[in-house]
Amino acid sequence: MLNIVLFGPPGAGKGTQSQKLIKEYNLMHLSTGDILREEIEKQTPLGIEAKSYIDRGELVPDQMVVGMIGQALDQYRNVSGFVFDGFPRTTVQANRLDAMLKEKGESINLMMSLEVDHNELVNRLVNRGKESNRTDDQDVSIIRNRINIYNERTKIVIDFYKAQNKYRAVKGMGSIDEVFHGLCDAVEAYK
Ligand code: AMP
Repeated sequence: MLNIVLFGPPGAGKGTQSQKLIKEYNLMHLSTGDILREEIEKQTPLGIEAKSYIDRGELVPDQMVVGMIGQALDQYRNVSGFVFDGFPRTTVQANRLDAMLKEKGESINLMMSLEVDHNELVNRLVNRGKESNRTDDQDVSIIRNRINIYNERTKIVIDFYKAQNKYRAVKGMGSIDEVFHGLCDAVEAYK
């Protein structure tokens, strides 16, 4: 299996690049943000609980997203690998992901982190807010809160994968195709 964590702050382009990676390498896309938005849409108890966190730009509790990923790993058995998008976002989540994969005789192969300047992130999210109905992209103070939380709680996950020699920084500025080439270079170098 080829298991990739696609990492980076909100607005780095993880969703867009995940779509391209899964096509190129025939992988399964697992986005906790997408799964949570589906749960909200369906008004499940999990979705209703998650919505209050998401609307404030806070992280939902670890156990919630860990449970979701655990279910997805059980559900999609015969795939050639996963792209984890927006997960793990805390060191607790990273540890749990390792443990869940280990139970299946698997592991993360590569963690690629998209690097984008702060101002560019805010611009991209404000623009995305105009085009989509994502509630958490509508308000600059919520956008700033999400970026702060990334810096305070999520960025440190880099150290977790650095220690395993799996971390690769990839330039996230530039065109979608330029960024994608950077990601593919990192995957090919790994292979
Ligand atoms: P995203 O689509 O990845 O930007 O996620 C949207 C929102 O869902 C985030 O701002 C969090 O509130 C929540 N969320 C998504 N993934 C996670 C995660 N791994 N841990 C905690 N909260 C998450």
